[in-house]
Amino acid sequence: MAADILVTGSCNMDLITYAPRLPLPGETIHGTRYVTGFGGKGSNQCVAAAKLGAKASMIAKVGNDAYGKEYIENFKALGIDTGHVTMTEDACTGVAPIVVGADGTNSIIIVPGANLHLTESDIDAASSLFQSAKVMLCQLEISPESTLCALRKAKGAGVFTIFNPAPAPQKELDPDFYKNSDIVCPNETEASTITGLEVTDVESAKVAVPHLLKMGCGIAIITLGKDGCVFASKEREEPCWVKGEKVNAVDTTGAGDAFAGALAFFFAKFPHLPLEEKLRRSCYVASDSVCREGTQKSYPYRRDLPEEIF
Ligand code: ATP
Repeated sequence: MAADILVTGSCNMDLITYAPRLPLPGETIHGTRYVTGFGGKGSNQCVAAAKLGAKASMIAKVGNDAYGKEYIENFKALGIDTGHVTMTEDACTGVAPIVVGADGTNSIIIVPGANLHLTESDIDAASSLFQSAKVMLCQLEISPESTLCALRKAKGAGVFTIFNPAPAPQKELDPDFYKNSDIVCPNETEASTITGLEVTDVESAKVAVPHLLKMGCGIAIITLGKDGCVFASKEREEPCWVKGEKVNAVDTTGAGDAFAGALAFFFAKFPHLPLEEKLRRSCYVASDSVCREGTQKSYPYRRDLPEEIF
C-alpha cells in the first residue's frame, strides 16, 4: 500500500502524575492520579494525519518492552503502517515522566531511549517507502544524523519534505537540513533559536520568516499559538499572516504536532489548494485539538470536522 505520508521520528510514552504540587528535591509526596498517553512529536504528527484520513507509515524505533508493544498496537489500531517500526534490545521505549501540580505547573523529563537508536541503516531499510510516499515529515527527537538522512533520501526520491525543527536545536544545524526541506515550520521559540531573532508575535514572525527562507527551504511557516501562523515562500516572498481560530482552549499540548500532521495531510491529499488555504485548514484542525484534553486523543477524526475542511 503506497503511503500518502511518511513520518520519520519519535515515539514516547507520556507517564503523567497529577499531584497537589511538584515535589521538592529529596522529597516524597503522594499523587492524586496517574495516566499514560502515547506521545513523541513524530508519532503525534503521524497520528494527527492518519486520523484525518491519510494513509500513513511510520519509521521509528521502540524498546522490546511493554510500552514498545503497546505503542505498535496503538499505531495498528489507527491504521498506521508499522512495517518499519522496529524494536531494540539495547534501550527502553522513549518515556516522558511528567508531574502536573494542582495549579497547572509541570515538570518533565524526557528519556529518549530507543529513539536515539534509529539509525541511518534503519532508514535505508525503508527505501521502498521513500519511493512511494507523497510527503515526508520529520522533527528533532531522533538523532540529527538520522533526521538529515531521511530528509536527503526523501528529497532525492522527489518526495515533498516538511521539517518541524522541534524541540529547538541545541546547536546550529547543518545547512542541508534547510536545503532538503520544502517546508520548515518552527514555533516561536524554535524560530528564535534558529534565526537569532526574538519571535514573539505576528510582527516579529514577519521579520523572521525571510531569514528562514534564506536558509534554503521553499516555504517558511512560524506557528503562533492562538494567533495562527505567518508564512512566506520562494514564490511569494512577502510574509503573510493566517489568523488563528478563536476557540475555548482547554489543553494546548501537542497543538504544534496537530498542525504539522494536518499540513502534511493537506499537501498529500489536496496538493492543488492554494498554500494560504492549506494553512488556514491546518490551523482549523490544530485549534479544534486544543478544545479537548490530551495529545493524540485530542486530535480530531475527519468525521468530527465540518465537510468544508476537506
Ligand atoms: P505545542 O508545543 O503545544 O505542541 P507549539 O508551540 O509547537 O505547540 P503552537 O504555535 O502553540 O505550536 O500552535 C500550533 C497551532 O495550533 C497554531 O498555529 C494554532 O493554529 C493552534 N493553536 C494553538 N493554541 C491555540 C489556541 N489557544 N487557540 C486556537 N488555536 C490554537
